[in-house]
Amino acid sequence: MDEHKHAQLKRLPGVDRILEYAANGGQFDNIPKSVLIPAIRTAIDTLRTRILKSEVPLDGSRFSRQALVATVKQQAARTMALKLKRTVNATGVVVHTNLGRSLLSPAVIDHLTTISSRYSNLEFDLEKGRRGSRYSAVEDILCELSGARAAMIVNNNAAAVLLCLDTLATGREVVVSRGELVEIGGAFRIPDVMAKSGAVLKEVGTTNRTHPRDYENAIGEQTGLLLKAHTSNFSIVGFTAAVSLPDLVSIGRRHSIPVMEDLGSGSLVDLSRYGLIKEPTVQESLAAGVDVVTFSGDKLLGGPQAGIILGDKPHIDRIKANPLARALRIDKMTLAALEATLRLYRNERQAVHQIPSLRMLTLPLSVVQGQAAELKARLERLPGARITVELLDISSKAGGGSLPLLDLPSCCTGVSVHGRSANAIERWMRNHTTPIIGRIENDRFIMDPRTLQEEELDIIEKAFADMLADGTERG
Ligand SMILES: *Cc1c(COP(=O)(O)O)cnc(C)c1O
Repeated sequence: MDEHKHAQLKRLPGVDRILEYAANGGQFDNIPKSVLIPAIRTAIDTLRTRILKSEVPLDGSRFSRQALVATVKQQAARTMALKLKRTVNATGVVVHTNLGRSLLSPAVIDHLTTISSRYSNLEFDLEKGRRGSRYSAVEDILCELSGARAAMIVNNNAAAVLLCLDTLATGREVVVSRGELVEIGGAFRIPDVMAKSGAVLKEVGTTNRTHPRDYENAIGEQTGLLLKAHTSNFSIVGFTAAVSLPDLVSIGRRHSIPVMEDLGSGSLVDLSRYGLIKEPTVQESLAAGVDVVTFSGDKLLGGPQAGIILGDKPHIDRIKANPLARALRIDKMTLAALEATLRLYRNERQAVHQIPSLRMLTLPLSVVQGQAAELKARLERLPGARITVELLDISSKAGGGSLPLLDLPSCCTGVSVHGRSANAIERWMRNHTTPIIGRIENDRFIMDPRTLQEEELDIIEKAFADMLADGTERG
């Protein structure tokens, strides 16, 4: 090893010396030991690595106790900052699972705040003065809005599917079309959930074509359920055939076998009336006579994470009585947010206006274009003139396994900065105090204003101003 490295390594202080020094000045008073000690070790280790990697001796100021204390404080602040933080979604993907799926509307947040900061009648029947059901708050409104006879809610749609299969088909066969054996992001696969529930998968048809006779031929002594799964994140096109829900229901009726549908995104509003692609609605599934339908609370419904199960009373009663239901039960915050979201659906226009996911999906192109143009103007005004901003006709996505074929016409801003790669811009934005998530296309950093919220143009403008003022981290 070089002599200078040896000498510098010997100058590295130990943890105790830094603690001692800082204790005198009260420098670390607000940092708990559990954070402080690892932060000091990290600071020393970082310096050691630098010494070992550097060709020339490091500048002596790096070894000063003040410099080390400053590094430790920075590191401790990073450790103690909240890890789950607000981000700016500039991807244009409205129901973005990695970025939190659905945003709750202000009316919903108000109710959520009240219910979670105060006691409530969560499981108390105020009329009768005794124990009540946790689910009654949303059951009535779900039935009112959808036309179902009964409802049950669990933690998410994956749990809903598991609970339904476990209740209705354990030890029995569940007939599913090969074209519907879906995998949703986050490792939800129909065959795997089926296995966990103790039901036996009976595949019928082929990937692209399944006919009524395929179901008929598969039905036997062991059949417990006919399942239709919405192919929510892909589409089979070309030479295809699928059995419609009404046809599947009549097959089930003829053989006295219940029919279940996993709708996935489950919209209560027919979005084709707002110029989007037709997705089956919850009401349509129920009207077709399905015995049980399940869907997510935080996809197209635009509420909190939840799994909603609707159907006729005998089936839902059995589902509620399953001991697994207790393990999958929702908490009061979910319940509060779900009820407040569902109330907005009593007036469809209000729902489309006030539920953020629906508002963003139905945002007129002209509004998106206006936002993109404003963002362009703001970025071009930034000092330095090293920035090029273009308006691009790129489409947005519904996301979250909703509307897979949907290409929402949108208008994005594509940014390039002289002397800085698109990757470097993307990294800078992602590491900004409020992280900004966009994407890269053709060596430009792309932002779609469709998914931007109020005042987020300010955040983006500030992040770019900081980046342009910063000389480091190029490439
Ligand atoms: C999204 C989806 C699920 C999983 O729902 P979560 O609420 O994410 O648990 C299950 N089935 C289908 C068809 C889906 O689209």
